[in-house]
Parts: sequence; structure tokens; C-alpha cells
Amino acid sequence: MSQIAQNLEAVRQRLAAAARRAGRDPGGVRLIAVTKTVDLERLRQAVAAGHRLFGENYVQEAREKITALGPGLHWHFIGHLQSKKAKAAVELFDLIHSVDRLKLAQALDQAAAQLQKVQDILIQVNLAGEETKSGAAPEKVPDLLRDIACLPHLRVVGLMTMPPWLSAEEVRPYFRALRELRDRLREIEIVPAPLAELSMGMSGDYEVAVEEGATLVRVGTAIFGSRPPRG
Ligand SMILES: *Cc1c(COP(=O)(O)O)cnc(C)c1O
Repeated sequence: MSQIAQNLEAVRQRLAAAARRAGRDPGGVRLIAVTKTVDLERLRQAVAAGHRLFGENYVQEAREKITALGPGLHWHFIGHLQSKKAKAAVELFDLIHSVDRLKLAQALDQAAAQLQKVQDILIQVNLAGEETKSGAAPEKVPDLLRDIACLPHLRVVGLMTMPPWLSAEEVRPYFRALRELRDRLREIEIVPAPLAELSMGMSGDYEVAVEEGATLVRVGTAIFGSRPPRG
């Protein structure tokens, strides 16, 4: 078994254990293998180990990998997205996790219309108000959802967050806050969709995220090893 296959297996087992601790069905959590800076050789090892769901932060890097690896895989966009890259993103990705402003949503809606697609998206929420991070402020999310509900080629299926860079236990309140925000949004019924997806948790804290209700965890380092610093 390759190192990557072993890492994947270990992460899957820890995910399942975390789900069971929280009384949840492990099948309700999907593992996104985050492949920014990961080369094709290592990506192929993950595919050989049976993994099919990948997350990318950069459109161009993703396009090269998606083209090289061919059909049968699922790709999510998890990075910051510029409106001018909307068309490429809609072409390439099943789910875009990082919609945080109306202008971007409108660009995605137009691109999806051209491609005759309904694009699934998540609203990225910046719970701690960190200026360096993307994401809509929690109090802005209801209005953003109302505006996006008018865009026929987008479907909001849930929320995503990147909490502050803290230890796993210290980020637990942020994960819980994302779930509670989702529950409140459900109650006010702005969108017809149930907002089923909560994208939260990375290598250092995915177990805590699952305990707090994550349905999508985004794990890079724990599968592929540490990344070179991006220059
Ligand atoms: C890089 C990245 C991840 C994965 O981070 P790891 O700590 O390597 O697991 C998850 N989510 C987003 C948005 C990222 O950019």
C-alpha cells in the first residue's frame, strides 16, 4: 500500500470514529482530498487507493489536473474565486465552496446559464471577522441568500467556513456557530433548499468539525504530507 493509501485509510477511520462519537452516520461525511501543489503522481496514488473527490484552490492548476486525470473524478473549488474566473470554475467544478459576495454569484449564474448548467454552491462565512480571510459576515448571509435565490442557475446547498488558525478545540465554537447559523437560516426559510452541507474542518481539526456536524471535510496535509510554502 502506498503512503498516500495508508494516510487516506487512517483519515477515513478517524472520520468514521468521530461521526460515531457524535451519534452520526459516517456515511454522512464526505472526505475531500485537497490537492493544491500536489503533483499528478501523488494524485494518481490517491485515485488508485479508490479516492474520487478532490478539492482545488486555483482554477488553472485544477484545469491541468482534471484534464490529465480524465473523467470519473469529482472536483470541488475551495479557494478564493475571482469573478473573471467564473466561467472556468463552472466548467470544471461540481461544487464551489467559496461564494461570499453577490457580484461573484451573478458572474457564476451567467456562466452557468451559458453552459446550461445549474451550479451547486456553498456560501463561505467569515465567522471571526478576520480581515485577511474571504467570506461573508454572518449577519450579511440572509440578504446574500435572498439575492442569490433570484439567480436561476445557482443552487445554494450549504455553508462553508475557514476558522481562525487555532488549535482543534479552540476552533470548535466556530464550527458550532456555522451549524447554528445554518439552523437559523433554515428556520427563516429564505431558500427552498435545506442547506444540507456544512463544509468545515481541515487536517488539524476535521474530527472536531465532524463532531459539530460537518458533512464535507477538506483535508490536504494529513493525506499528501506538508506543502512547500507558496512563493
Ligand atoms: C489548503 C486548504 C485546506 C486543506 O488544508 P490542510 O491543513 O492541508 O488539510 C482546506 N481548505 C482550504 C480552503 C484550503 O485552502
